[in-house]
Amino acid sequence: MPTYKAPVDDVLFLLKDVFRLERYNNLPGFADASPDILEAVLGEAAKLCEDIVQPLNRIGDQQGCARHKDGRVTTPTGFKEAYRRYIEGGWLGISAPEEFGGQGLPMVLTTIINEFLCSANMAFAMYPGLTQGAIAALLAHAAPEQQRMFLPKMIAGHWSGTMNLTEPHCGTDLGLLRTRAAPQLDGSYKITGTKIFISAGEHDLAENIVHLVLARIEGAPDGVKGISLFVVPKVLPGPDGSLGAINGVSCGSIEEKMGIHGNSTCVMNYDGATGWLIGQENRGLNAMFVMMNEARLGVGVQGLALSEVAYQNAAAYAKERLQGRALTGAKFPEKPADPIIVHPDVRRTLMTIRAFNEAARALLVWTALKADIAHRAQDEKTRQSADDHMGLLTPVIKGVLTDQGFANTVMAQQVYGGHGYIAEHGMEQFVRDARIAMIYEGTNGIQALDLVGRKLARDGGRAVMAFFNEVGAFAKEHGNEAAMQPYVAPLNQALAHLQQATMWFMQHAMEKPDNAGAGATDYMHLFGLVALAYMWAQMAKVARDKLKNGANGREDRLKAKLVTGRFFMERMLPETSTHLARIQAGADSVMQLPAEAL
Ligand SMILES: Cc1cc2nc3c(=O)[nH]c(=O)nc-3n(C[C@H](O)[C@H](O)[C@H](O)COP(=O)(O)OP(=O)(O)OC[C@H]3O[C@@H](n4cnc5c(N)ncnc54)[C@H](O)[C@@H]3O)c2cc1C
Repeated sequence: MPTYKAPVDDVLFLLKDVFRLERYNNLPGFADASPDILEAVLGEAAKLCEDIVQPLNRIGDQQGCARHKDGRVTTPTGFKEAYRRYIEGGWLGISAPEEFGGQGLPMVLTTIINEFLCSANMAFAMYPGLTQGAIAALLAHAAPEQQRMFLPKMIAGHWSGTMNLTEPHCGTDLGLLRTRAAPQLDGSYKITGTKIFISAGEHDLAENIVHLVLARIEGAPDGVKGISLFVVPKVLPGPDGSLGAINGVSCGSIEEKMGIHGNSTCVMNYDGATGWLIGQENRGLNAMFVMMNEARLGVGVQGLALSEVAYQNAAAYAKERLQGRALTGAKFPEKPADPIIVHPDVRRTLMTIRAFNEAARALLVWTALKADIAHRAQDEKTRQSADDHMGLLTPVIKGVLTDQGFANTVMAQQVYGGHGYIAEHGMEQFVRDARIAMIYEGTNGIQALDLVGRKLARDGGRAVMAFFNEVGAFAKEHGNEAAMQPYVAPLNQALAHLQQATMWFMQHAMEKPDNAGAGATDYMHLFGLVALAYMWAQMAKVARDKLKNGANGREDRLKAKLVTGRFFMERMLPETSTHLARIQAGADSVMQLPAEAL
């Protein structure tokens, strides 16, 4: 059976040493996250995830959710109690505004705790994760009375949230959406239509479910310009928030699927359900994007989380499984064979996952801190540059962390040989669970197009230029330090590849858009590698300085950082040249064969 230990030490290294959280104390909520509080909060979160939530991962996979004849959906054994413990601990609203009952702590803490929770049990983590996304959308776009009605209950976890975009004929292309909204005299709307694949659409964890639904008001323009956002509760609340009549929304069925069995994926039928407009008419996609962006980062977290838990188990297995002898001679001659960790190929596999995980965690922490700045800074310019970072890095984090996260679960499974393929060790569940993260919240192909087609050119390339400048400035500042050469020289090279790829798109994508489409996924991965390398260079700098100035008993851990960072630079970062070559090859061989020939 798989085990899990939350990487609290690694997180503290990032928060205290690399990103130096105390620098943000001028932002609301940060002064409350003193080092002692941080350690206590992370320690408690780790306990909840390791002791309460993780033991339900296998049960959830085996039992799945059940839809009953009356339309109720029940979650696997133990989920209800674990959810109760989770909300009673106040975890759902730890970063939510205090005026609605949250704790106001930095967003970065929620991101970290969500990693722990997803590693422990991704299917379970999705219930509160969707609620957090819905809370963000309501905070940004709901009217004050709507916020007062819904937010306190959702932040407390008594009511959960969902996002309803997808319809049977309408997935990526939301312009095709057909769900209708008919205005009523009292200002509400009657919502009618069918949504499919709705995560946590119906379940037994919360007393009410708040659906955020995209629909078209009668007479609205075709396409994405005619879509509005509505809040449609499962149970209609009275003015005092008490639960009233059941609304006209129900779960028609739940999907049989490859993984995340503990999370209900529902067909939701809206039969003249009462809903209220959120934000402006026909600007629904804009409002829903708040939830989608939040969810995209959350899905990136899922990619890392599964990669981490798969790594932990594969590393433990590799130290126990005895097969063959080390190439350099027996390491354990008293045993019938050496543990497989002695074999360079097994090491290569484990180091690849580890080098990704530690940098991906840094990238998420860095970006979550930008989210805090974007929401909490006083100064408009500071907020804007943080927002630029979020816009640029969101598709990279979603796409790269989930593509690589899935690949890493497969690599970790490989460490188990045939024992990874059978269910007993739990490795195949990680593979199945990780797969969906590449698909939902906009497939990774769509993330790549968002990056290349929208985010690069936005505001005259302001965000991407800021990223290039920041990475370039770091490389310049530390380029002359001999000890930093193994990190800075490859970083410089990779940055040059990214800049060449960007330039190539500028020169070749305008007259031939297929060049951008054909190179987008490679560009996203090239970007991801540079961002991860930048994280490694910063971590290496901190580790070197700490080792020089007294490591306080952390020598081994800091030296391990330096080695893992070097592994990334030497063995993973060189892929940037492959990505660049593919991008520069253009779209010709991709598009030439007629559709009938494929
Ligand atoms: C388990 C699960 C949970 C989900 N949860 C939710 C949820 O809670 N709420 C919700 O609203 N939806 C949810 N979804 C739906 C999910 O977001 C969609 O499946 C996803 O966005 C893709 O849409 P689609 O399946 O219709 O694929 P399609 O849009 O049909 O795409 C098919 C393929 O074509 C590619 N493609 C499509 N258009 C383009 C283009 N313009 N350029 C290049 N490539 C393109 C895609 O990348 C994909 O590979 C969930 C799905 C699953 C399976």
